Amino acid sequence: MISLLAAALVLGSSSSTPESRVDRVVDAAWAASDQIAQVKDDPTATAEKKHQAELQDDREIGKKAAAEVDKSEKPSDDKVSTERVQRIGKVLATLANQLHTIASYGDGRLNTFDYQFKLIKGKDVNAFSLPGGYIYVYDGLVSYIESDDELAGILAHEISHAKFRHIATITHQQANLDKIALPLVLLSILTGGAAAIMPALTTRGLLQTAEGSGWSVQAETAADFGGLQILEKSQWNATGLLTTMERLATDERFNPLIKDLGIFRTHPPSRERAEALIQRMGEANIPIQRSKVTTSFRATALPQPDGTIELKFGKAHLVSFAGVGADARAQTAADRLNEFFDSSPGIFQVSSSADGWVYGRSRPLIKVTPDDAIAAKTTLTSLQGAAVANIKRSLYTLGYKTWEGQ
Ligand SMILES: [Zn+2]
Repeated sequence: MISLLAAALVLGSSSSTPESRVDRVVDAAWAASDQIAQVKDDPTATAEKKHQAELQDDREIGKKAAAEVDKSEKPSDDKVSTERVQRIGKVLATLANQLHTIASYGDGRLNTFDYQFKLIKGKDVNAFSLPGGYIYVYDGLVSYIESDDELAGILAHEISHAKFRHIATITHQQANLDKIALPLVLLSILTGGAAAIMPALTTRGLLQTAEGSGWSVQAETAADFGGLQILEKSQWNATGLLTTMERLATDERFNPLIKDLGIFRTHPPSRERAEALIQRMGEANIPIQRSKVTTSFRATALPQPDGTIELKFGKAHLVSFAGVGADARAQTAADRLNEFFDSSPGIFQVSSSADGWVYGRSRPLIKVTPDDAIAAKTTLTSLQGAAVANIKRSLYTLGYKTWEGQ
């Protein structure tokens, strides 16, 4: 898909007979942006009047672009997920329309829109936002996220792009460029593909301008912080925004099946972005609780057919409990491990003692018993050793897949 879109731009996005979705969206958006409300040039108009006219511009550009997207993208067949996206989106949109959020980049006024959320067909792990609050999510993204909190993180990020009027801001800053500026920005957002548009940019001699302006990094960071401010006031755990970014970053590096990570590709989920988010969360006293918003970074106690209770971290086996009270012991261990793992500890902070206890930061995590050893057909010492090794391995994985404590 990416290369096709890149080709479309190379061939000319202002073609009079647009053939691709991007061509049509770009043309429609550009036509709409030409109809700049006269009121903005009227020196007697009040600031509020000008503001409203600008918002109206965004709405019109977004409406036309959305109409084009709707022609080529099919609504998802998944009614339950569609309802889920719209339900969470609606709550966040209401908050966004009430909150004076701080924009580190873009238009920081209280810009209100009638946000619309559409789930569209496709395996892409992707979402994008058009001016005026038209937000699109692909099926693939809903399959990818591990909780409502992660979905809320994505939606709050996309809402912030619209709320901060990033496209209008970028277009305004690049007003001295030719018509390519807005299409370029729109294309980046639609494809999420900075890499994909590089050849087109080079062809047009715009690569330097696009890179030099740094708008994309600033817009992404601002949308992260804007999202965080909305999430903070919501019922969802703001950690979801961080974990989605962390998981996508790892998967993009190592999972060849995920190639189209448009959502963050404009500026990939970088260590800097995650670190900035972690720092912001710390300043705002928002706890980082990965275990609460993911299944990948969560310890769970799972009853097995043979009566034992298996303790896992994500999909990795840690230890199995057996005998009297196995269930309760496993649950307590899972709770303690989650608290421990959420504090981003180092591997050296796991220790053990001769009586079967395993400690994290010198606090008890797990106690393996003779019953557990018998069920595992091993000795207490070796079972304890295996549990320690498994916990350390999971910690290593966690450290590797996140950006803390590295
Ligand atoms: Zn973004």
